[in-house]
Amino acid sequence: MFTAKEIITKKRSGIGLSDEEIRFFIKGVTTGEIPDYQVSAFLMATYLKGMSFEETKSMTLAMMNSGNVFDLSRVSGVKADKHSTGGVGDKVSLILAPLLASCGIKVPMISGRGLGHTGGTLDKLESIPGMRTRLTRDEFITILEKVGCVMSGQTDEVVPADRKMYALRDVTGTVESLPLIVSSILSKKLAAGPEVIVFDVKSGNGAFMRSENDAVELANLLVKVSTSMNRKACAYITDMSQPLGKRIGNSLEVGEALEMLRGGGPPDLVQVTLTLCAEILKLSGKESTYEDASRVLRANLGNGSAFEKFRELVKLQDGDVRAIDNPSLLPSSKVKEEVRAEQPGYLTGIDTKFLGDACALIGAGRRTAEDEIDPAAGMVVEKRLGDSIRNGDVLITVFAESRERIASILPGLKTAFKITPEKIQPPPLIRKVVRVEGVEDWKMAPVRTS
Ligand code: URA
Repeated sequence: MFTAKEIITKKRSGIGLSDEEIRFFIKGVTTGEIPDYQVSAFLMATYLKGMSFEETKSMTLAMMNSGNVFDLSRVSGVKADKHSTGGVGDKVSLILAPLLASCGIKVPMISGRGLGHTGGTLDKLESIPGMRTRLTRDEFITILEKVGCVMSGQTDEVVPADRKMYALRDVTGTVESLPLIVSSILSKKLAAGPEVIVFDVKSGNGAFMRSENDAVELANLLVKVSTSMNRKACAYITDMSQPLGKRIGNSLEVGEALEMLRGGGPPDLVQVTLTLCAEILKLSGKESTYEDASRVLRANLGNGSAFEKFRELVKLQDGDVRAIDNPSLLPSSKVKEEVRAEQPGYLTGIDTKFLGDACALIGAGRRTAEDEIDPAAGMVVEKRLGDSIRNGDVLITVFAESRERIASILPGLKTAFKITPEKIQPPPLIRKVVRVEGVEDWKMAPVRTS
């Protein structure tokens, strides 16, 4: 028999915890038997002393088992998912799930809402009129079986320990702890039942992990813990020093995802999405080379079968498919404002985090959990790093419900784009691949974008 105080004291003294001790603690967090002040002390001790690999694995398992774990045994085929650490303009999930479903992979996706400067898949989906993202467990599994993919929010029964601990981490300065981040992310992802998981860890000024070294460290631990739990896993470090694609904001991003599902889309979005999908097809044993995977993926974008999967998913989740067939029916803004370059040169920097924060300020995101989202608010980024700029060129177009909302972000937007006389080489879009065997630089381009 343990006590919470003994466990906290051990961790505080830097002594490793056993699997039983961690399970005891997480059970106490879940039932409420361990009060918030002791959970907070445990979180701070973990933040300061860290956790070994074995402890991190025990935490992940204990948290995952604190609530419902989906039993997908009645669903045939390989189940796979992707997790992104979040970025600006990152609408990859909206395309990846139906595209993989069109290749015969099952994608049980539990997604989140926008957080700070990064958008959330649920908010994007809910910009489709009528779309329902709160599904029961039965609905989740039935839609997964019928369509091959499903996208739902987290219910109260999935990983309740994380909800409590995340709220306490947020107010005790203990969010930025690698074992706490990894156990929080993985417990939720793995509870939905994927056998294959690919992580997209963003790096750059719009990412949660700004430095590449921090991103690789997080990716390594995500991959190693997942693999030790008998999942096939791999991580890509991808660039977030500029938004992904051109459009930021909920209905704008759905529109861009639909463009790609119809065979078009901006090259950077196409490259990242196809690379992650190709990796999943390989890890799932569906295709043996990137070239074969790429061919199948491109074919299914071109022949409408990926689009058709998305349409089916929207229909079964009560969304209005007329807005999928005709994206001009998606919510759109009354007011639009262009920001133009005030000097010629080359675009050498974009304050990506500012763009994300500014989008939230004009209504596309939330500052508090209670804030209402404006599904139509957002921006279209007209230039990319390295582009040549003429005086007066449009850099970004902003959409919102009123001119007043836009006015508040205009001064910041003018300085968010750095224009200099010298050209730069933009950072590579896909930087590294992290496998359980080690970290590789991304040298080859396995998936062509044209
Ligand atoms: N996302 C999560 O779900 N948990 C964390 O701790 C950080 C990012």
